[in-house]
Amino acid sequence: MIEIKTPQEIGKMKNSGKILSASLLAVREQIKPGQTTFALDKIAEKVIVDYGAVPGFKGYRGFLNATCISVNDEIIHGIPGDRILKDGDVVSIDSGVLLDGWFSDSAFTVIVGGRAKKEDRKLVEVTERALYAGIDAAKIGNRVGDIGFTIQQYVESFGFSVVKDYTGHGIGRHLHEDPSVPNFGKHGTGIKIRVGLCIAIEPMVCAGSDELFVESNGWTVKTVDHANAAHFEHTIAITENGPEILTAWLGD
Ligand code: MG
Ligand code: MG
Repeated sequence: MIEIKTPQEIGKMKNSGKILSASLLAVREQIKPGQTTFALDKIAEKVIVDYGAVPGFKGYRGFLNATCISVNDEIIHGIPGDRILKDGDVVSIDSGVLLDGWFSDSAFTVIVGGRAKKEDRKLVEVTERALYAGIDAAKIGNRVGDIGFTIQQYVESFGFSVVKDYTGHGIGRHLHEDPSVPNFGKHGTGIKIRVGLCIAIEPMVCAGSDELFVESNGWTVKTVDHANAAHFEHTIAITENGPEILTAWLGD
């Protein structure tokens, strides 16, 4: 069932989203060679808790951390730990916030240090642009399939592939709600986009094949061909004025 949110509820989600973007920004500033993924997770958690909010991922299906940190061929759901980041690593940070009963969810990918490979830079750039293309497609009167169609067309035009087995999602009082928001699809299919719909759009893009597997830890999703992957995500609300990003970074 799709829960349509009131402007007041969207306001609460925006407050949640502001804390999340502050937390992600703090993490981004500390991503450097020699840093462990666990240390980055602690930075995210501290910002969220200092604002009086709750890390939205902690406790979700038994997940123990505030963030998922996925490196190189890890697409999503990487578990923070003692892994030390190296120059040129492609690192995706995904996190969520629960504030006053309302969730937000957002992710970004960066390349560690100054030695980025050209193809990795392209992968990250295309994934980020795919997210904004998807957000632009979330117009009132369009359908959810239009978002996936737009993302897929854009990503595949660069020879990259979109993940099919994991999708974006509705969001609100729960981290994951209906509808599912795939990163692929057909024009004019799926439910209609209307005012009050709140969704997380999150292209997960592989430099090679979209074939994936889940690691033995039961969480981390990796590419079978070990090609690198990137992930960008925003929580958005459909308002009278169209899609509004609730997890926009300061200055966005
Ligand atoms: Mg997320
Ligand atoms: Mg999500």
